[in-house]
Amino acid sequence: MLLTITTTHQPATDLGYLLHKHPERVQTFSLNFGQAHVFYPEASEQLCTAALLLDVDLVHLVRGRDKSVALEQYVNDRPYVASSFLSVALSDVFGTALNGHCKFRPELVNTLLPLKAHLAVIPCRDDVVTLQSLFEPLGYTVTMEPHALDEQYPEWGMSPYYSVTFEATCRLSDLLSHIYVLIPVLDNAKHYWIGDEEVEKLLKRGQGWLEKHPQRNLITRRYLRNRGSLVRSTLARLLPEEAIDQEEETEEEKSPFPQESQELQESQKSQELHGNPHEQRLIAVMEILQQSNAHSVLDLGCGEGKLLKLLLENSTFERILGLDVSYRALEHASRRLRLERLPENQRKRITLQHGSLTYRDKRLEGYDAATVVEVIEHLDEPRLAAFERVLFEFARPATVVITTPNAEYNSKFALLHAGQFRHEDHRFEWTRQQFQDWVARVAGRYGYTVRYQPVGPQDDEVGALSQMGIFSRQS
Ligand code: SAH
Repeated sequence: MLLTITTTHQPATDLGYLLHKHPERVQTFSLNFGQAHVFYPEASEQLCTAALLLDVDLVHLVRGRDKSVALEQYVNDRPYVASSFLSVALSDVFGTALNGHCKFRPELVNTLLPLKAHLAVIPCRDDVVTLQSLFEPLGYTVTMEPHALDEQYPEWGMSPYYSVTFEATCRLSDLLSHIYVLIPVLDNAKHYWIGDEEVEKLLKRGQGWLEKHPQRNLITRRYLRNRGSLVRSTLARLLPEEAIDQEEETEEEKSPFPQESQELQESQKSQELHGNPHEQRLIAVMEILQQSNAHSVLDLGCGEGKLLKLLLENSTFERILGLDVSYRALEHASRRLRLERLPENQRKRITLQHGSLTYRDKRLEGYDAATVVEVIEHLDEPRLAAFERVLFEFARPATVVITTPNAEYNSKFALLHAGQFRHEDHRFEWTRQQFQDWVARVAGRYGYTVRYQPVGPQDDEVGALSQMGIFSRQS
């Protein structure tokens, strides 16, 4: 992982004073995840570049954490990409500059300098948040160069990694603070636990700019890894004058990126062998719907509309309704389905509805089938009873398909600690026994028969990635 900072401010070697690192020396610092080296590839009066090279020691990181050491803990992108390790290194190695202090040339602290920061490798995997949307509002000119998947085989196409340059005339402490906060937001895979002190760090590093940033809610949410109460208290402190609409915030939080983190890695691993696990899941659901002879389907917690798209492509499904609590997810779904461009006869087959599946809604009545794919684990357990009534007592479709992670399979995820969930927003993850107990109880209470089906890659001992309960209404 390499960060360089260049200035053409005259004399350019002032950068050495500001960073508190002498341009003529190579210095090495031990950090708890490896080593950081600081050196100056160029240091003249006209141009000075300081480099921070991180040597992330994965072997050291993995050791002592988990007994089941798997290859991907050693072979992953962490050593190369700009991630939260960079933020930790910035505060450990350039802490004085980050805090806006300069012992020998205090006047430099508030001097606006022509600065250029270059990061050798940044992962840009999702379209939800872009590098430009994070840095440009702060006055940076952003240049991105994609890396090929493999330089020798250009036909393999481009990778999700970019080398990036940000340029602005600003204070060095601002540049460092922006990188400190925004790189982990972009990477979205913070490597340590989020606690109260992260709120303080965010408020400190975000001082003077975060409250004005158009993406401040997203930045706060992602920086704090969607920890709802921390996000709310931080936003309240950032914007003491503004009333924060708690409802809206909770909804936003609930628009997760369903295939994030562990599952995404699993998906990348097993893609060639079995196809993407989430696709496998959706195809399994489609098959059940077809066998059940359903012509109208509710997709509850439809997210970004992957299943809706499959349903729409199949003309047996004449009436489709997708419901989600996250408005943002519905906007994605609408784009994915190209609702605005659909011809009228197709358009009228589908409805997207903003709502919660823990509240009774008359519009959910009169459908043949309902699917609830990887959603129940996002509901607070005490709200499950409300959901059961909404679906099985009031909407009461003939077929209900519910899938949820199989917690037993989590032991196959090398990077997941015991007891940790696959996704930040999950409120619980059930073993096969726990799921079947719940399903059997609900089926018994509301007059449904039920069968189970494993979904996704399977293991003899711990079962499949996901589990599915298929409910059929008794006549
Ligand atoms: N079924 C989709 C999305 C799964 S992610 C898929 O398989 O791709 C879980 C979804 O449940 C999210 O989109 C989230 O916004 C939604 N969700 C969480 N709580 C909800 C609630 N109370 N009512 C409706 N949707 C909810």
